[in-house]
Amino acid sequence: MSQVYSLCAPGQGLSCFACCPPIRPAGYDHAAHQGSLRRLLADNTAAVSQGRMPGPITGFWCPGLGFLDRAGRQVGCLLHPARHQGQDLRGPTGYAAKCGRESCAPARAFAELTPAAREALLAPCAGMDSFAFSSPRLNPVMRLLAFGPKVAAAAAGLRPSLETLRGWAWLWRAEEAMGWLLGRALGSWGAGALAEPGLNERLAQAAGRLAQALGPSPPLDPGQALEELAHEWEARCWRTLAGRRRARPAELARWRALVERALE
Ligand code: SF4
Repeated sequence: MSQVYSLCAPGQGLSCFACCPPIRPAGYDHAAHQGSLRRLLADNTAAVSQGRMPGPITGFWCPGLGFLDRAGRQVGCLLHPARHQGQDLRGPTGYAAKCGRESCAPARAFAELTPAAREALLAPCAGMDSFAFSSPRLNPVMRLLAFGPKVAAAAAGLRPSLETLRGWAWLWRAEEAMGWLLGRALGSWGAGALAEPGLNERLAQAAGRLAQALGPSPPLDPGQALEELAHEWEARCWRTLAGRRRARPAELARWRALVERALE
């Protein structure tokens, strides 16, 4: 959980706890275990409110996680400095530093959006409790943000409702790593393409053409880390398309030159 007006706690009664604690199995979703977790959250909340500070995190559960409101709709860190006048009480969990560093692709994309775009994407989330808001399965806005800031900003411009977002097949089927390519594509296809049926197939065809043009990856992976040469969204896309973690700057320039043709 991090700073004010982050996706973690964007206000309007919304809060995310998908990465809490920061040691979950891949694909884990709190919403799938809501019944049992609600009991644990209530126990934690009662313990902390009575001054019983939690011990270390064990397994995949954090004893510092609880309800932030009386209605039991908002879940978050009971020990976070934002709740204790800047004092960080997470030390006993053993994960204070890791929790402080935690970040996710949707939160980083959200941070790159304009305030107007953020508002447009939070509007469909109105009324969601933390289980729903945090869940990439239940909340299409979380899915959308995972595609990166370009795609999220284009979607925000359409001011989609929750039902509209749920109906975008590509959002559930396309690879998140293709978000950078999709963002580039929208430059020529137009933001309205996000609402068109068949976008997933169109994007997959473009990605296939590009992967073919890139050719096979060499046995060694020469050059610099892709994250040093490109923004994280672009680096993630090339890692998937080229099967490479590293590249020489001239290679990356060649790959970029192939994009426009693949999108035609
Ligand atoms: S999963 Fe992302 S948005 Fe949710 S609390 Fe963690 S960093 Fe914040």
